[in-house]
Amino acid sequence: MDFLHPEERLSREEIESLQLIRLRKVIEEAKKSPFYSRKLKGIEPEDIKELSEVSKLPFTTKEDLREYYPLGFLTRPVSEMVRLHASSGTTGAPTAILYTENDLNTWAELMARCLYMVGVRKEDVFQNMSGYGLFTGGLGIHYGAERLKCLTIPAGAGNSKRQIKLLQDFKVSVVHIIPSYALHLSTVFAELGIDPRSLNLRIFLIGAEPHTEEARKRIEEIYGVKAYNSYGLSEMNGPGVAFECVYQEGMHLWEDAYLAEILNPTTLEPVAEGEVGELVMTTLTREGMPLIRYRTKDLTRFLPGRCLCGREHRRIDRITGRADDMIILKGVNIYPMQIEKVLMARKEVGQNYVIELYKEGHLDQMRIKVEIKDEYFVEDMRVLKQLQQSIAKSLREEILITPRVELVEHNSLPKSQGKAVRVIDLRDK
Ligand code: AMP
Ligand code: ZN
Repeated sequence: MDFLHPEERLSREEIESLQLIRLRKVIEEAKKSPFYSRKLKGIEPEDIKELSEVSKLPFTTKEDLREYYPLGFLTRPVSEMVRLHASSGTTGAPTAILYTENDLNTWAELMARCLYMVGVRKEDVFQNMSGYGLFTGGLGIHYGAERLKCLTIPAGAGNSKRQIKLLQDFKVSVVHIIPSYALHLSTVFAELGIDPRSLNLRIFLIGAEPHTEEARKRIEEIYGVKAYNSYGLSEMNGPGVAFECVYQEGMHLWEDAYLAEILNPTTLEPVAEGEVGELVMTTLTREGMPLIRYRTKDLTRFLPGRCLCGREHRRIDRITGRADDMIILKGVNIYPMQIEKVLMARKEVGQNYVIELYKEGHLDQMRIKVEIKDEYFVEDMRVLKQLQQSIAKSLREEILITPRVELVEHNSLPKSQGKAVRVIDLRDK
């Protein structure tokens, strides 16, 4: 197996002793920031004798980031900072992450490691279809690809016809793309009468939003590529936190750079081995703005066993959703990804759907608008009715309640520019 960095070869024991050394250092460094100088009062690096004692450290939340915005987490003067990014969240006050030159360097290396791991090489032509600007999926992945000396095209988000032209003209082999956009882009290929499989595409990096195995399979099938799941968040630099290897069985979380815990979101105690909980992370290599026990709200679990690729960095499972994404309807907990799983597995269903929550009298109701492929969108109402009932039935098997299903024409649902908005809440709060 080919590795880019020696850190990828570390054994569990080596990873854990490196983590302990780095964790102590982070405590020392973090105390230089206004936020942690207060928060870590009375805690010294020597207090942490083993990794499990990370539990002695306080949590950091999004609200903390907001409260100490813009500079309250910096360990050094702002003149030492060379880049700023922000979370893509559209609600609430802003949060910003600032990076020193070293931070950008370590981040680009991590990103390059991810790309190299799935087989991206200098000869590849790489097109980044992620939004640039404050969103980390643009520049973050961009510099990783340049490190590998790939010809790197900063195409940005949207403008599908131009994207397709660039893919063709420069024989692009590797693409970074948000999965909902990959599905949408396939409909533009269809309109243009171009088969995506006839291009030079080889590898897709998909991530930045929750998606199911079924959506991945669709993307791989449509484009004739291998699609690898990429996980990250701006608070932890951005992409490059965890990434699938060629075996596509969970994402290796780079434990030389991040200390990860999976906790019960209510008790904040570690979950039992292999159980799903909230991912909580500490940066181990960031100097300008270290974060300790940051509560991501993302739900996942550590996968058991060793990966065939030989890396001993633990793997996390596909993110099932965020703790805040859960819909409670008629007493049943539902995650949007359960719905996507059912829809994307059906051949009649097109590339987009939306879940609407509304009130009927006093009752909460759910309506799922589903795009249907042209060839199945027939005029015979009876056939459509049957299809609708059959989709509702398969949804019921997954989510235990029968939602209202509305079939709509292919390409008729609104498309968001960045991450897909899957749930629209029309209930009065
Ligand atoms: P941002 O900081 O704006 O880039 O958003 C980060 C959030 O996007 C994460 O906390 C996750 O909720 C979500 N996210 C990123 N990558 C993935 C992925 N591969 N699968 C599921 N959700 C993801
Ligand atoms: Zn692996």
